[in-house]
Amino acid sequence: MTDVIVVGAGPAGSAAACHLARAGLDVLLLEKAAFPREKVCGDGLTPRAVRELITLGVDLDRPGWARNRGVRLVAEGRALDLPWPDGTAFPAFGLLRTRRDFDELLARRAVACGAVLRERTRVTGPLLDDRTGRVVGVTTDAGALEARLVVAADGASSRLAVALGLRPRADRPVGVAVRRYFRSPRHDDDMLECHLDVVPAGYGWVFGMGDGTCNVGVALLRRTHHDPRRLMDSWTAALPPAWGLTPENATGPVRGAAIPTGFARLPHYRPGLLLVGDSGGMANPMNGEGITYALESARIAADVIVQALARPTASQRERVLYTYPQALRSSLGGPFTLGRWFVNAIENPHIMRLATRQGLTHPSLMRLAIRILANLTDPSPRTPTDHLAQALTHLTPAP
Ligand SMILES: Cc1cc2nc3c(=O)[nH]c(=O)nc-3n(C[C@H](O)[C@H](O)[C@H](O)COP(=O)(O)OP(=O)(O)OC[C@H]3O[C@@H](n4cnc5c(N)ncnc54)[C@H](O)[C@@H]3O)c2cc1C
Repeated sequence: MTDVIVVGAGPAGSAAACHLARAGLDVLLLEKAAFPREKVCGDGLTPRAVRELITLGVDLDRPGWARNRGVRLVAEGRALDLPWPDGTAFPAFGLLRTRRDFDELLARRAVACGAVLRERTRVTGPLLDDRTGRVVGVTTDAGALEARLVVAADGASSRLAVALGLRPRADRPVGVAVRRYFRSPRHDDDMLECHLDVVPAGYGWVFGMGDGTCNVGVALLRRTHHDPRRLMDSWTAALPPAWGLTPENATGPVRGAAIPTGFARLPHYRPGLLLVGDSGGMANPMNGEGITYALESARIAADVIVQALARPTASQRERVLYTYPQALRSSLGGPFTLGRWFVNAIENPHIMRLATRQGLTHPSLMRLAIRILANLTDPSPRTPTDHLAQALTHLTPAP
């Protein structure tokens, strides 16, 4: 019997498989698609995600990565460049890479670490122990597979979670975002550009991919009456023509998907099954960033699994496994609560306008905001901004 079956080879699944295999466990990674495959995304990786990639042993010096130095906030004709903080906990750069490339690279990394990857394998549901109801494996279109534990990394619509009755919570924001690639002279811009005057509780982005194209999109951090595709059309039509973000320069269609945020699906553990990444609704409510938290929750889950499976009795193993939700809350709960409060506030267009106006004319305020927004507070703070960001994040209760 396999130690762990991981369902879904997105960032969460491949990272979990990689950590688990490195620790010496037998890992089977099941993916319904075949690589390379597309995934609708902004392709942006903040320094927090980069730190996880370094931990996974991904070679960031090989060709194919576009580095960014920080975020550029734009609103009402003003622009403010905010370089990533240069602290000890996170590198001072972010990355961009198409998900078509990135996801395959991570899946291959998991294989290099010892996981077995089975592509074109669709998981159809959990395999349950008749007597206890415990998850003891999965059913696939090619038959049933047993494992000591199952990790659900099957994304926002998580078939596994839904089959177990774990539906998205109504009190958690679910964002929605659309994106499109354009050939553009701005492809080598090394700042992640975010436009804050597109829609309340949302933003537009232009990320230079460094390969002749830009990934351009609109994120709505709450479901609203706005149609994100229409917003995208009207916003890009108003951008300077020299940027080239016109339908003739598009390299593909506009595509969109939901972004479940702030622990949108609970519980994160039920006997035999752990949820990681989007399956557990783990994108940051503040900005919709989900890759970082997919990678982080995968690492946290893998730590718990490795410790649990080393315990000699079933009850000891179960006690350790039940610590996973609390480990997630301690690590991500504070930032997610702050994120929800922030989005509640900026849903009001007056507050959104005031915040962007005040913010863009007060760079030190925005430096603080960016540390909190991208969850980049440093555990060894040096500047007053670091101290304030750390205090705010720590004082906020987990949801
Ligand atoms: C338009 C848009 C832009 C975004 N931009 C950013 C961004 O710039 N930066 C950022 O950090 N986040 C961004 N996000 C969020 C980010 O894309 C997700 O949070 C992230 O992909 C979550 O990773 P995951 O591994 O949990 O799930 P996914 O990436 O969804 O991976 C799930 C995997 O499981 C597989 N799978 C699903 N069901 C099954 C099944 N039944 N059997 C087998 N395999 C299955 C899928 O094929 C897929 O490979 C964006 C989201 C959207 C919609």
